[in-house]
Amino acid sequence: MSKNSDGNGPPLLQVVALGTGTKCLSESKRSGHGDAINDSHAEVVARRALVRWLLAHARLALTTEAGSPVLMLDKPQSNKLKLRAGVSLHFFASEMPCGDACVCEESRTGAKEVEASGNDAVVVVPPLQSKVDSGPQATHRARRKPGRGEPTLSMSCSDKIAKWLLLGFQGCLLTGLLAHPIEVETVTIVSPREDERDLDAARTAAERAFFGRTSSHRVAGGPALCTRVPQVRVVSRRQVLGGGEGGRGGGIFFGQGGRSKSGVSVNWSALHYFSDTATFGEVHEVTLSASGRRAGAVKRLRSGEVFNEKVVSTISRLRVARSFRQVLELGGGRFGNVEDFDVLAARGPYSELKRTFGGGYHDAWRQMRRAEGSIFSFWITKEEDFTVSQL
Ligand SMILES: [Zn+2]
Repeated sequence: MSKNSDGNGPPLLQVVALGTGTKCLSESKRSGHGDAINDSHAEVVARRALVRWLLAHARLALTTEAGSPVLMLDKPQSNKLKLRAGVSLHFFASEMPCGDACVCEESRTGAKEVEASGNDAVVVVPPLQSKVDSGPQATHRARRKPGRGEPTLSMSCSDKIAKWLLLGFQGCLLTGLLAHPIEVETVTIVSPREDERDLDAARTAAERAFFGRTSSHRVAGGPALCTRVPQVRVVSRRQVLGGGEGGRGGGIFFGQGGRSKSGVSVNWSALHYFSDTATFGEVHEVTLSASGRRAGAVKRLRSGEVFNEKVVSTISRLRVARSFRQVLELGGGRFGNVEDFDVLAARGPYSELKRTFGGGYHDAWRQMRRAEGSIFSFWITKEEDFTVSQL
Protein backbone atom coordinates (compact mmCIF):
# COMPACT_ATOMS: atom_id res chain seq x y z
CA MET A 1 0.00 0.00 0.00
CA SER A 2 1.21 3.53 -0.60
CA LYS A 3 -0.28 6.49 1.19
CA ASN A 4 0.46 10.11 0.47
CA SER A 5 2.15 11.76 3.40
CA ASP A 6 0.42 14.74 4.96
CA GLY A 7 3.27 17.06 4.09
CA ASN A 8 5.28 17.17 0.91
CA GLY A 9 7.40 14.14 1.75
CA PRO A 10 7.51 10.89 -0.20
CA PRO A 11 4.51 8.58 0.02
CA LEU A 12 4.45 6.13 2.91
CA LEU A 13 4.94 2.56 1.70
CA GLN A 14 3.67 -0.28 3.82
CA VAL A 15 3.39 -4.03 3.28
CA VAL A 16 -0.20 -4.92 4.17
CA ALA A 17 -0.58 -8.53 3.01
CA LEU A 18 1.87 -11.26 2.17
CA GLY A 19 1.75 -14.89 1.06
CA THR A 20 4.13 -17.73 0.31
CA GLY A 21 3.45 -21.14 -1.18
CA THR A 22 3.89 -23.28 -4.27
CA LYS A 23 1.24 -25.99 -4.16
CA CYS A 24 -2.48 -26.57 -4.47
CA LEU A 25 -4.87 -29.36 -3.60
CA SER A 26 -5.79 -32.02 -6.10
CA GLU A 27 -9.45 -32.52 -6.88
CA SER A 28 -10.05 -35.32 -4.41
CA LYS A 29 -8.44 -33.37 -1.55
CA ARG A 30 -10.57 -30.25 -1.96
CA SER A 31 -12.94 -29.57 0.90
CA GLY A 32 -16.63 -29.16 0.27
CA HIS A 33 -17.06 -26.95 3.35
CA GLY A 34 -15.08 -23.80 2.52
CA ASP A 35 -12.67 -24.56 5.38
CA ALA A 36 -9.56 -25.39 3.32
CA ILE A 37 -7.23 -23.31 1.17
CA ASN A 38 -7.46 -25.12 -2.14
CA ASP A 39 -4.83 -23.04 -3.93
CA SER A 40 -1.72 -22.23 -1.91
CA HIS A 41 0.32 -20.49 -4.61
CA ALA A 42 1.85 -17.37 -3.06
CA GLU A 43 -0.08 -14.88 -5.22
CA VAL A 44 -3.42 -16.45 -4.28
CA VAL A 45 -2.55 -16.63 -0.58
CA ALA A 46 -1.42 -12.98 -0.60
CA ARG A 47 -4.71 -11.87 -2.18
CA ARG A 48 -6.68 -13.74 0.45
CA ALA A 49 -4.53 -12.11 3.16
CA LEU A 50 -5.41 -8.75 1.57
CA VAL A 51 -9.12 -9.62 1.83
CA ARG A 52 -8.62 -10.34 5.54
CA TRP A 53 -6.88 -6.97 5.94
CA LEU A 54 -9.68 -5.15 4.10
CA LEU A 55 -12.33 -6.78 6.30
CA ALA A 56 -10.45 -5.67 9.41
CA HIS A 57 -10.36 -2.10 8.10
CA ALA A 58 -14.03 -2.22 7.15
CA ARG A 59 -14.78 -3.12 10.72
CA LEU A 60 -12.56 -0.38 12.04
CA ALA A 61 -14.19 2.19 9.76
CA LEU A 62 -17.63 1.30 11.08
CA THR A 63 -16.88 0.94 14.77
CA THR A 64 -14.48 3.67 15.79
CA GLU A 65 -14.79 7.40 15.82
CA ALA A 66 -11.39 7.89 14.24
CA GLY A 67 -12.30 5.34 11.60
CA SER A 68 -9.78 3.45 9.51
CA PRO A 69 -6.70 5.10 7.98
CA VAL A 70 -7.45 3.13 4.80
CA LEU A 71 -11.22 2.86 4.29
CA MET A 72 -14.00 5.42 4.79
CA LEU A 73 -17.68 5.66 3.98
CA ASP A 74 -18.46 7.18 0.60
CA LYS A 75 -21.03 9.71 1.81
CA PRO A 76 -23.40 10.89 0.58
CA GLN A 77 -22.90 9.02 -2.70
CA SER A 78 -22.93 5.25 -2.45
CA ASN A 79 -22.80 5.08 1.37
CA LYS A 80 -20.43 2.15 0.95
CA LEU A 81 -16.76 1.94 1.84
CA LYS A 82 -13.99 3.31 -0.33
CA LEU A 83 -10.23 3.75 -0.11
CA ARG A 84 -9.23 7.07 1.42
CA ALA A 85 -7.79 9.65 -0.95
CA GLY A 86 -4.07 9.13 -1.49
CA VAL A 87 -4.19 5.39 -0.67
CA SER A 88 -3.22 3.03 -3.47
CA LEU A 89 -2.32 -0.64 -3.66
CA HIS A 90 0.59 -2.35 -5.39
CA PHE A 91 1.25 -5.98 -6.22
CA PHE A 92 4.72 -7.51 -5.91
CA ALA A 93 5.78 -11.05 -6.82
CA SER A 94 9.28 -12.41 -6.25
CA GLU A 95 8.86 -14.72 -9.27
CA MET A 96 6.89 -14.63 -12.50
CA PRO A 97 3.36 -15.92 -11.78
CA CYS A 98 2.69 -19.36 -13.29
CA GLY A 99 0.74 -19.72 -16.53
CA ASP A 100 0.66 -17.44 -19.56
CA ALA A 101 3.03 -14.82 -18.11
CA CYS A 102 5.81 -17.43 -18.08
CA VAL A 103 5.46 -18.07 -21.79
CA CYS A 104 7.84 -15.93 -23.73
CA GLU A 105 10.62 -16.90 -26.05
CA GLU A 106 12.79 -19.72 -24.72
CA SER A 107 10.60 -20.24 -21.71
CA ARG A 108 7.84 -22.56 -20.68
CA THR A 109 5.33 -22.94 -17.94
CA GLY A 110 4.46 -25.82 -15.66
CA ALA A 111 0.73 -25.11 -15.89
CA LYS A 112 -1.40 -27.27 -18.19
CA GLU A 113 -3.56 -25.84 -20.94
CA VAL A 114 -7.33 -25.95 -20.61
CA GLU A 115 -9.01 -26.73 -23.90
CA ALA A 116 -11.97 -25.03 -25.47
CA SER A 117 -15.27 -26.74 -24.92
CA GLY A 118 -17.75 -24.38 -26.55
CA ASN A 119 -19.80 -24.46 -23.39
CA ASP A 120 -18.91 -22.27 -20.48
CA ALA A 121 -20.38 -24.65 -17.95
CA VAL A 122 -18.21 -27.57 -18.95
CA VAL A 123 -14.49 -27.58 -19.43
CA VAL A 124 -12.64 -30.37 -21.12
CA VAL A 125 -9.76 -31.12 -18.82
CA PRO A 126 -6.83 -32.38 -20.86
CA PRO A 127 -5.27 -35.71 -19.95
CA LEU A 128 -2.89 -35.47 -17.08
CA GLN A 129 0.72 -35.18 -18.05
CA SER A 130 3.26 -36.27 -15.51
CA LYS A 131 5.97 -33.97 -16.78
CA VAL A 132 6.10 -30.34 -17.71
CA ASP A 133 5.45 -29.98 -21.43
CA SER A 134 8.57 -29.57 -23.44
CA GLY A 135 9.07 -27.15 -26.30
CA PRO A 136 7.63 -23.71 -26.85
CA GLN A 137 4.05 -23.25 -25.73
CA ALA A 138 1.19 -21.27 -27.18
CA THR A 139 0.39 -17.92 -25.64
CA HIS A 140 -3.05 -16.43 -24.85
CA ARG A 141 -4.20 -19.68 -23.24
CA ALA A 142 -5.93 -20.36 -19.95
CA ARG A 143 -4.12 -23.00 -17.95
CA ARG A 144 -4.69 -25.03 -14.86
CA LYS A 145 -2.08 -25.63 -12.22
CA PRO A 146 -0.15 -28.87 -12.41
CA GLY A 147 -0.73 -31.49 -9.74
CA ARG A 148 1.25 -34.44 -8.53
CA GLY A 149 -0.38 -37.59 -9.83
CA GLU A 150 -3.87 -36.11 -9.92
CA PRO A 151 -5.34 -33.10 -11.75
CA THR A 152 -6.04 -29.89 -9.89
CA LEU A 153 -9.01 -27.64 -10.52
CA SER A 154 -7.07 -24.45 -9.84
CA MET A 155 -6.40 -22.03 -12.67
CA SER A 156 -2.90 -20.61 -13.11
CA CYS A 157 -1.87 -17.47 -11.25
CA SER A 158 -1.64 -15.56 -14.57
CA ASP A 159 -5.30 -16.35 -15.22
CA LYS A 160 -6.33 -15.40 -11.69
CA ILE A 161 -4.42 -12.11 -11.84
CA ALA A 162 -6.13 -11.33 -15.17
CA LYS A 163 -9.46 -11.89 -13.41
CA TRP A 164 -8.51 -9.74 -10.37
CA LEU A 165 -7.44 -6.90 -12.66
CA LEU A 166 -10.93 -6.86 -14.19
CA LEU A 167 -13.13 -7.59 -11.18
CA GLY A 168 -10.96 -6.29 -8.35
CA PHE A 169 -8.70 -7.86 -5.74
CA GLN A 170 -11.48 -7.81 -3.13
CA GLY A 171 -13.26 -10.92 -4.45
CA CYS A 172 -16.99 -11.42 -4.76
CA LEU A 173 -18.45 -10.94 -1.27
CA LEU A 174 -16.50 -7.78 -0.43
CA THR A 175 -17.68 -6.13 -3.64
CA GLY A 176 -20.97 -5.62 -1.83
CA LEU A 177 -19.22 -3.50 0.84
CA LEU A 178 -17.28 -1.26 -1.51
CA ALA A 179 -18.13 1.74 -3.66
CA HIS A 180 -15.37 0.75 -6.10
CA PRO A 181 -13.48 -2.48 -6.71
CA ILE A 182 -9.95 -2.70 -5.30
CA GLU A 183 -7.49 -1.98 -8.10
CA VAL A 184 -3.71 -2.05 -8.04
CA GLU A 185 -1.62 0.74 -9.47
CA THR A 186 1.51 -1.28 -10.21
CA VAL A 187 2.49 -4.91 -10.66
CA THR A 188 6.19 -5.59 -9.98
CA ILE A 189 7.78 -8.95 -10.70
CA VAL A 190 11.32 -10.06 -9.98
CA SER A 191 13.18 -11.96 -12.69
CA PRO A 192 16.36 -14.02 -12.28
CA ARG A 193 17.56 -12.47 -15.57
CA GLU A 194 19.83 -9.42 -15.72
CA ASP A 195 19.85 -8.56 -19.42
CA GLU A 196 17.63 -5.59 -20.37
CA ARG A 197 16.22 -7.43 -23.41
CA ASP A 198 15.26 -10.44 -21.31
CA LEU A 199 13.55 -8.18 -18.77
CA ASP A 200 11.70 -6.39 -21.58
CA ALA A 201 10.54 -9.70 -23.08
CA ALA A 202 9.34 -10.86 -19.67
CA ARG A 203 7.45 -7.60 -19.16
CA THR A 204 5.78 -7.95 -22.56
CA ALA A 205 4.70 -11.49 -21.69
CA ALA A 206 3.38 -10.38 -18.30
CA GLU A 207 1.39 -7.51 -19.83
CA ARG A 208 -0.11 -9.86 -22.39
CA ALA A 209 -1.00 -12.41 -19.70
CA PHE A 210 -2.45 -9.95 -17.18
CA PHE A 211 -4.47 -7.64 -19.42
CA GLY A 212 -3.53 -8.05 -23.09
CA ARG A 213 -5.53 -11.27 -23.36
CA THR A 214 -8.58 -9.70 -21.76
CA SER A 215 -8.64 -6.21 -23.27
CA SER A 216 -11.99 -6.87 -24.95
CA HIS A 217 -13.62 -7.03 -21.52
CA ARG A 218 -12.42 -3.57 -20.61
CA VAL A 219 -14.60 -1.66 -23.06
CA ALA A 220 -17.25 0.86 -22.13
CA GLY A 221 -20.34 -0.93 -20.92
CA GLY A 222 -18.44 -4.20 -20.68
CA PRO A 223 -18.73 -6.55 -17.75
CA ALA A 224 -15.46 -5.56 -16.05
CA LEU A 225 -15.76 -3.63 -12.81
CA CYS A 226 -12.25 -2.13 -12.99
CA THR A 227 -11.02 0.51 -15.38
CA ARG A 228 -7.38 0.91 -14.38
CA VAL A 229 -4.63 -0.85 -16.31
CA PRO A 230 -1.68 -1.18 -13.93
CA GLN A 231 1.88 -0.35 -14.77
CA VAL A 232 3.87 -3.60 -15.03
CA ARG A 233 7.55 -3.69 -14.09
CA VAL A 234 9.85 -6.67 -14.38
CA VAL A 235 13.03 -6.05 -12.43
CA SER A 236 16.18 -8.05 -11.84
CA ARG A 237 17.16 -9.35 -8.43
CA ARG A 238 20.06 -6.94 -8.45
CA GLN A 239 17.65 -4.02 -8.88
CA VAL A 240 15.56 -5.21 -5.92
CA LEU A 241 18.60 -5.69 -3.73
CA GLY A 242 20.02 -2.33 -4.64
CA GLY A 243 23.40 -3.87 -5.39
CA GLY A 244 23.48 -5.86 -2.14
CA GLU A 245 26.25 -8.41 -1.87
CA GLY A 246 25.80 -12.15 -2.12
CA GLY A 247 22.14 -12.13 -3.04
CA ARG A 248 21.12 -10.44 0.20
CA GLY A 249 19.82 -6.96 0.78
CA GLY A 250 16.96 -5.16 2.45
CA GLY A 251 15.92 -8.34 4.23
CA ILE A 252 15.19 -10.09 0.94
CA PHE A 253 17.10 -13.23 0.02
CA PHE A 254 16.98 -14.95 -3.34
CA GLY A 255 18.24 -18.52 -3.24
CA GLN A 256 20.67 -19.64 -5.90
CA GLY A 257 19.24 -22.88 -7.28
CA GLY A 258 18.78 -26.11 -5.38
CA ARG A 259 15.53 -24.96 -3.86
CA SER A 260 12.87 -27.49 -3.05
CA LYS A 261 9.19 -26.70 -2.94
CA SER A 262 7.97 -26.05 0.55
CA GLY A 263 5.07 -28.02 1.93
CA VAL A 264 3.84 -25.05 3.94
CA SER A 265 2.33 -21.75 3.03
CA VAL A 266 2.52 -18.60 5.15
CA ASN A 267 -0.04 -15.83 5.10
CA TRP A 268 0.37 -12.53 6.89
CA SER A 269 -1.79 -9.42 7.10
CA ALA A 270 -0.82 -6.07 8.61
CA LEU A 271 -3.14 -6.32 11.59
CA HIS A 272 -0.49 -5.72 14.23
CA TYR A 273 -1.64 -2.18 14.93
CA PHE A 274 -5.20 -3.21 15.67
CA SER A 275 -5.83 -2.98 19.39
CA ASP A 276 -8.19 -5.93 19.19
CA THR A 277 -6.07 -8.11 16.94
CA ALA A 278 -7.35 -11.12 18.80
CA THR A 279 -10.70 -10.53 17.14
CA PHE A 280 -9.14 -11.11 13.78
CA GLY A 281 -6.89 -13.96 14.75
CA GLU A 282 -3.15 -14.07 14.67
CA VAL A 283 -1.19 -11.77 12.42
CA HIS A 284 0.53 -14.56 10.57
CA GLU A 285 -0.47 -18.13 10.02
CA VAL A 286 1.14 -21.25 8.60
CA THR A 287 -0.97 -23.67 6.61
CA LEU A 288 -0.06 -27.06 5.20
CA SER A 289 -0.33 -27.07 1.42
CA ALA A 290 -1.19 -30.78 1.42
CA SER A 291 -4.39 -30.18 3.40
CA GLY A 292 -5.05 -26.45 2.98
CA ARG A 293 -5.46 -26.19 6.75
CA ARG A 294 -3.53 -24.66 9.61
CA ALA A 295 -0.44 -26.45 10.77
CA GLY A 296 -0.94 -28.00 14.19
CA ALA A 297 -2.39 -31.01 15.89
CA VAL A 298 -5.42 -32.33 14.09
CA LYS A 299 -7.91 -33.88 16.43
CA ARG A 300 -10.32 -36.52 15.39
CA LEU A 301 -13.71 -35.17 14.39
CA ARG A 302 -16.49 -35.58 16.91
CA SER A 303 -19.75 -37.03 15.68
CA GLY A 304 -21.70 -34.45 13.71
CA GLU A 305 -18.59 -32.38 12.93
CA VAL A 306 -17.67 -32.02 9.27
CA PHE A 307 -14.36 -30.26 9.86
CA ASN A 308 -12.03 -29.35 12.67
CA GLU A 309 -12.59 -25.73 13.63
CA LYS A 310 -9.12 -25.40 15.14
CA VAL A 311 -7.33 -25.92 11.85
CA VAL A 312 -9.55 -23.71 9.69
CA SER A 313 -7.39 -21.01 8.12
CA THR A 314 -8.19 -17.38 8.82
CA ILE A 315 -8.14 -16.74 5.07
CA SER A 316 -10.51 -19.60 4.17
CA ARG A 317 -13.83 -18.86 2.49
CA LEU A 318 -15.60 -19.90 5.68
CA ARG A 319 -13.74 -17.33 7.81
CA VAL A 320 -14.12 -14.64 5.15
CA ALA A 321 -17.88 -15.28 5.12
CA ARG A 322 -17.99 -15.00 8.92
CA SER A 323 -16.05 -11.73 8.95
CA PHE A 324 -18.23 -10.45 6.14
CA ARG A 325 -21.30 -11.17 8.24
CA GLN A 326 -19.86 -9.13 11.11
CA VAL A 327 -19.30 -6.16 8.81
CA LEU A 328 -22.79 -6.60 7.37
CA GLU A 329 -24.21 -6.38 10.87
CA LEU A 330 -22.10 -3.32 11.73
CA GLY A 331 -23.26 -1.67 8.51
CA GLY A 332 -26.80 -1.44 9.86
CA GLY A 333 -28.42 -2.42 6.58
CA ARG A 334 -26.32 -0.31 4.21
CA PHE A 335 -24.64 -3.39 2.73
CA GLY A 336 -27.63 -5.72 2.93
CA ASN A 337 -29.84 -7.44 5.43
CA VAL A 338 -28.08 -9.67 7.94
CA GLU A 339 -31.20 -11.79 8.50
CA ASP A 340 -31.31 -12.55 4.78
CA PHE A 341 -27.65 -13.47 4.97
CA ASP A 342 -28.30 -15.93 7.79
CA VAL A 343 -31.17 -17.58 5.92
CA LEU A 344 -29.04 -18.03 2.81
CA ALA A 345 -26.01 -19.10 4.82
CA ALA A 346 -28.00 -21.88 6.44
CA ARG A 347 -29.74 -22.95 3.25
CA GLY A 348 -26.77 -22.73 0.88
CA PRO A 349 -25.30 -22.93 -1.58
CA TYR A 350 -22.45 -20.50 -0.94
CA SER A 351 -22.61 -19.32 -4.56
CA GLU A 352 -26.14 -18.01 -3.89
CA LEU A 353 -24.82 -16.03 -0.93
CA LYS A 354 -22.18 -14.47 -3.18
CA ARG A 355 -24.71 -13.67 -5.88
CA THR A 356 -27.00 -11.92 -3.40
CA PHE A 357 -24.42 -9.96 -1.40
CA GLY A 358 -21.55 -9.54 -3.85
CA GLY A 359 -22.78 -6.42 -5.65
CA GLY A 360 -22.32 -6.68 -9.43
CA TYR A 361 -19.39 -9.10 -9.19
CA HIS A 362 -21.31 -12.31 -9.79
CA ASP A 363 -23.11 -11.06 -12.90
CA ALA A 364 -20.00 -9.41 -14.35
CA TRP A 365 -18.05 -12.65 -13.90
CA ARG A 366 -20.80 -14.65 -15.57
CA GLN A 367 -20.81 -12.26 -18.53
CA MET A 368 -17.04 -12.45 -18.80
CA ARG A 369 -17.16 -16.23 -18.93
CA ARG A 370 -19.86 -16.19 -21.60
CA ALA A 371 -18.21 -13.62 -23.87
CA GLU A 372 -17.15 -15.02 -27.20
CA GLY A 373 -13.46 -15.81 -27.42
CA SER A 374 -12.92 -15.04 -23.73
CA ILE A 375 -10.09 -16.90 -22.00
CA PHE A 376 -12.42 -17.03 -19.01
CA SER A 377 -14.79 -19.33 -20.89
CA PHE A 378 -12.21 -22.05 -20.15
CA TRP A 379 -12.35 -21.47 -16.41
CA ILE A 380 -12.78 -24.75 -14.55
CA THR A 381 -16.08 -24.77 -12.70
CA LYS A 382 -15.96 -25.68 -9.05
CA GLU A 383 -18.94 -26.68 -6.99
CA GLU A 384 -19.67 -24.26 -4.19
CA ASP A 385 -22.64 -26.02 -2.73
CA PHE A 386 -21.62 -25.85 0.89
CA THR A 387 -23.60 -23.95 3.49
CA VAL A 388 -22.00 -21.61 5.98
CA SER A 389 -24.49 -22.41 8.70
CA GLN A 390 -21.48 -22.98 10.97
CA LEU A 391 -21.54 -19.20 11.30
ZN1 LIG B 1 1.07 -19.82 -9.43
